[in-house]
Amino acid sequence: MKVLLIEDEAGLILTLTDRLEAEGFAVKSAADGESGLHIALSENFDLIILDVMLPKKNGYDVCRDLRQKSVNTPILMLTAKGETIDKVLGLKLGADDYLTKPFEVIELLARIEALLRRSPKTLPNSTDAFSFGDVAIDFKRAEVTKNAQTVELSAMEFKLLHYLIENRGAVHTRNQLLDEVWGYDAMPSTRTVDVHIAWLRQKLEDNPKYPQYIQTVHGFGYKFNF
Ligand code: CA
Repeated sequence: MKVLLIEDEAGLILTLTDRLEAEGFAVKSAADGESGLHIALSENFDLIILDVMLPKKNGYDVCRDLRQKSVNTPILMLTAKGETIDKVLGLKLGADDYLTKPFEVIELLARIEALLRRSPKTLPNSTDAFSFGDVAIDFKRAEVTKNAQTVELSAMEFKLLHYLIENRGAVHTRNQLLDEVWGYDAMPSTRTVDVHIAWLRQKLEDNPKYPQYIQTVHGFGYKFNF
């Protein structure tokens, strides 16, 4: 998953980048509001961490501009202690949550997890629920059942499944899936995609060897057939 960190304190950028990368996120950072906005508009992220007091363009303005341009990525705003911040204003402008500096990284990670959990917002025309065969998926709660039994999916499996269903019928190459679902540019190999597809089939298909829904398109990639 990709995180954009818009923050002008070099030390905090380093610390947060390290910690987030250790948690498996791909992190990009920008040190002022203008370049942050530019990056946020030119790439897809799963989450944006946005400082309020920034050079060139403050966090409120960045947030407002992003929402005006229909970027619905969850935004977690960072504010410094003692800064007169208007939380109501920020929330009106479209921020999803706030954290006051200084904060414990563990607290930040908890907020991120909560935001990602409640964010089918990242997928604009997202459906709330979907079912195929004996499988039912509640996207809002991130719950999957098969024959009314809970199926445990990892975050990545769930994200991959969500993506395939949102784009059902379309064929995706492994590289496209890496880009769209994993968000890294080169890091994991296309083999990662195959492995996750295999796990999803194992968990969801009646006969994983002859998948009915999560299909291979030979010489190309995968599609969700529905
Ligand atoms: Ca700042």
